[in-house]
Amino acid sequence: MKMIFKKIVQLLKYIFNSPTLAHFTVGLVCSPTKSFCPICQNGNRFSFICSGRLRRPNSVCPVCGSFERHRFIWLCFENYWFKNGIDKTEITLLHFAPESCFKQKFHRLFGAGYMTGDITPGRAKKIVDITNIGFPDESYHYIVCNHVLEHIPDDKRALSELYRVLKKGGTAFLSVPIRGETTDEDLSVVDPAERTKRFGQYDHVRYYGLDFKNRIENTGFSVSIFTPGDVIKNEKIRILLGINNTNTMEDNILFIATKK
Ligand SMILES: [Zn+2]
Repeated sequence: MKMIFKKIVQLLKYIFNSPTLAHFTVGLVCSPTKSFCPICQNGNRFSFICSGRLRRPNSVCPVCGSFERHRFIWLCFENYWFKNGIDKTEITLLHFAPESCFKQKFHRLFGAGYMTGDITPGRAKKIVDITNIGFPDESYHYIVCNHVLEHIPDDKRALSELYRVLKKGGTAFLSVPIRGETTDEDLSVVDPAERTKRFGQYDHVRYYGLDFKNRIENTGFSVSIFTPGDVIKNEKIRILLGINNTNTMEDNILFIATKK
């Protein structure tokens, strides 16, 4: 009896020392609501779990670690790539600050054409400064850059670099935290507490509004805006994304920018 008890304690310790297993177990035991993750294709028996800086319910997939916005963006990719029936083996994709839930999928889809870049060593295949990208002009068909530009003081230069390395007709999938219509920016604010209060995170230099679209267009791109309702039916939004209504969709906007 003592041995069995000891084994159970050991098992519980193992589960709760592993973030993924702990997420999965909590999801199974505490959240009976059905969900289906379009990225890792897991579902039915688990629910997305409460996480994120604002402790949102139904936010993280316990298997691949994706947030609502990752699942939404993945559905946009599917919608864009699979509907157009492109030959993915010949496509080049540059992925900034690569999210782990996307990396394997992209690698499988694009093989040697898939490149990752990040300013921090060890986080991607190459160290890349988005304001001075070390790749030749017109070298990529696609760029994926999520939640990066709000960290970059000279985002105008970053956007023009993205434009430069894209092939003509190529597309950049861009997302940033969005609040309201107008961007709130003040580069003189450097105090981390003040930045958190004003821009949502200690290392953000602005809070973009929907006028982010204008900044992208000013670089020369033509821009379309996608929200969850554009790629999935309303009744599936809760199941696939974990969000309940449009009030929580501020982070779920994708800007698809095409180089003319
Ligand atoms: Zn998942």
